[in-house]
Amino acid sequence: MTMNNAHNQLWQALIARVQNNTLPHAMLFVGANKIGKEQFAHEFGAYLLCEQPVDENACGQCRSCKLLQTQTHPDLFVLQPKEKSVTIKVDQIRSLSSRLCQTAQLNGCQVVLINPADAMNVAAYNSLLKTLEEPSGKVVIILITSKLALLPATIRSRCQLLQFLPENKLAADKWLVKCLLQDDKQTYATLFTDLSALVLSKSTVLDFADKWHSHDILQLLDYWYLYCLDILKVQQDVQDDMLLFAEQRQQLVQLAKTCCKAQLISFSDSLQQAKKKLNNNLNPQLLLEDLGRIFQQMSTSC
Ligand SMILES: [Zn+2]
Repeated sequence: MTMNNAHNQLWQALIARVQNNTLPHAMLFVGANKIGKEQFAHEFGAYLLCEQPVDENACGQCRSCKLLQTQTHPDLFVLQPKEKSVTIKVDQIRSLSSRLCQTAQLNGCQVVLINPADAMNVAAYNSLLKTLEEPSGKVVIILITSKLALLPATIRSRCQLLQFLPENKLAADKWLVKCLLQDDKQTYATLFTDLSALVLSKSTVLDFADKWHSHDILQLLDYWYLYCLDILKVQQDVQDDMLLFAEQRQQLVQLAKTCCKAQLISFSDSLQQAKKKLNNNLNPQLLLEDLGRIFQQMSTSC
């Protein structure tokens, strides 16, 4: 598979997770149409199912790889709208759930690809929630969408978000405005300023939490996550093309010098974990104070 730089990094990051046994059981692949996220998902599924991966790719030779080539693998489930329908219906999710309750037939894991995830109807979402909450055995569920905003918060909060960026900056900007931030670039810009003030100790955690706790918290956590990714990318010295918010490059460079890389990675994970706490009715103000404190300490402890 030919991958652009951004996708290649994503691939390496996922493989590392598999090798450390820290792969999330549910992931949400988000990116513009035709950017390659479906093919990526299929190849990653093949890697997960392969009996003897070679050089961090599926081998193409083993029993599992042969079954995939003939589209008869019993542990790969691809859910998409059936024939003339545009919707993924609840009976498709129910039959998936009952198949997942049985163990994998080839001793490996079970892989589910739902594409496009925004094609599910409300009943299908509700049915999928149960599977996302109580995954049975070794199951990896990948939801694929170009329209993140259409997915219910309950689904988004249970999945680790992975963004697929186009190679070219202009296309990335267009996608970002259309798919993720929508008309909300101003909110992101304000959040960017406030987070930067926080990490540089120019404002307090309480001020930050006061200002943002009544905002859409899920969205805020997603933006915060993207913000951390940009700092990490600057630490790796990537080109401006690879940054979501290249216009803030100067500030990102300053933040990159201030923040410790390992802590930033672990904090990005905490942001994704935090979404689950929201499902348990955790007070958003307290959550933001907790996260704000950890975030602020990153600047001083490294
Ligand atoms: Zn193989």
